Amino acid sequence: MAKNQKQFVEEITPMEVDFAQWYTDVIKKTDLVDYSPVKGFMVIKHYGYAIWENIQAYMDRRFKETGHKNMYFPLLIPESLLQKEAEHVEGFAPEVAWVTHGGDEELAERLCVRPTSETIICSMYAKWLSSYRDLPFLYNQWCNVVRWEKSTRPFLRTSEFLWQEGHTLHETYDEAQEETLKMLNVYRETAENLLAMPVVVGRKTDREKFAGAYATYTMEALMHDGKALQAGTSHNLGQHFTKAFEIEYQDREGKQQHPYHTSWGVSTRLIGGIIMVHGDNRGLSLPPGIAPIQAVIVPIAAHKGGVNEAAAKIFEELKPAFRMELDDREQYSPGWKFNEWEMKGVPLRIEIGPRDLEQEQVVLFRRDTLEKETCSLSQVKQRVGELLEAIQKNLLEKAREMRDQKTHVVHDEETFKRIMKETPGFVKAMWCGDEDCEERVKAETGATIRCIPFEQEKLGDTCPFCAKPAEQMVYYAKAY
Ligand code: AMP
Ligand code: ZN
Repeated sequence: MAKNQKQFVEEITPMEVDFAQWYTDVIKKTDLVDYSPVKGFMVIKHYGYAIWENIQAYMDRRFKETGHKNMYFPLLIPESLLQKEAEHVEGFAPEVAWVTHGGDEELAERLCVRPTSETIICSMYAKWLSSYRDLPFLYNQWCNVVRWEKSTRPFLRTSEFLWQEGHTLHETYDEAQEETLKMLNVYRETAENLLAMPVVVGRKTDREKFAGAYATYTMEALMHDGKALQAGTSHNLGQHFTKAFEIEYQDREGKQQHPYHTSWGVSTRLIGGIIMVHGDNRGLSLPPGIAPIQAVIVPIAAHKGGVNEAAAKIFEELKPAFRMELDDREQYSPGWKFNEWEMKGVPLRIEIGPRDLEQEQVVLFRRDTLEKETCSLSQVKQRVGELLEAIQKNLLEKAREMRDQKTHVVHDEETFKRIMKETPGFVKAMWCGDEDCEERVKAETGATIRCIPFEQEKLGDTCPFCAKPAEQMVYYAKAY
């Protein structure tokens, strides 16, 4: 190993040694974020923010294709509005930040900083809806929310995070249910096609569902350390909020009705998922779909005649088609640059030196497989496109393999406990449906039911923990 490469690698704690430290080292070394003066609130630096912008652009397009429009609602919610839906306020009250003063004057009513916007949006929907002809309401907002989290980790769980929240109203329960599942499916597609992150989709148990929801659906991904990440949720809210907020409309028979309601959200947590699914001991490995830089050009022996010019020419040729960087910094050696861009997870590196020039070729290096190949100058654009596609596919396949290898089927409590201790991952098991049983497993093992997957398998007839009859298969895991 070259000396400078060794130095880079040594600055990242190997994930086998300490996964949490590995994560912290990677996000710091790659300059995705910085800590801020307020605990739990992070600064997202440009390299991290560009990943979010790429996720946003893709999802925003998908939301619009499925008929939604964007709005913006205010940051502050009067306390009286938050109080209206009983389960909702009970669930969120412990995490709410309050504004009590304007200047030095105490406010007559406290205002909460939105932890989510069902309440304020419903108060507005009540004003705007009057007839069945107005339905459905299909709106989304991109914004920040604040939840006063006790323990925080950059991206994964922060006290302020960026997200989107969709809020829709429908005439019938069935339409709301269809919307809930449709948007979960948009999330699943985004995770798999854009983030190369395989997910398990299904319903949350009542214990784990969103405060105020009729039913919550989730996509769950598995990280390198065997812990699950709830990567996005879609809620069928029934009429809980529409009744509490007196949202009414005149139906086709002229009668007053409460509409059915959904909400769905994904956040900057997705970036934490990308890091922990694809990263390795060299640092990040980004799927081309969201990589801020898809390919970087590094000139070798740049002082030799023609090298810089050739590098610049390739850059100009590829720039309209791909997100490109030309690293012509003079103060760093090519070896140093190779390591830096590898650590930053750039999917493809294009090297060009005097010898390549002579042969009218470049060297292409893949971050995902660490393989090199040569390519003639005339073919570069086409080959870069092909390789980016191949990398995107390969990352998804590798992540699937990793997840499958860490997924176990369990029929008895002892094996469950051993797996959760020694080789954590997803455990598929039958479940009796009893909340006390679910609670005991959590208390004794730290693992929770991540979801009741849509894709059911009949693994047996009884619950491994209480021996009662069991009809549903669930996924258990320790979770972020
Ligand atoms: P919820 O409104 O609670 O269903 O949250 C929607 C999504 O936001 C969840 O599925 C998570 O992916 C994400 N999320 C929830 N809490 C946090 C947090 N503290 N930091 C980052 N993302 C979060
Ligand atoms: Zn049980």
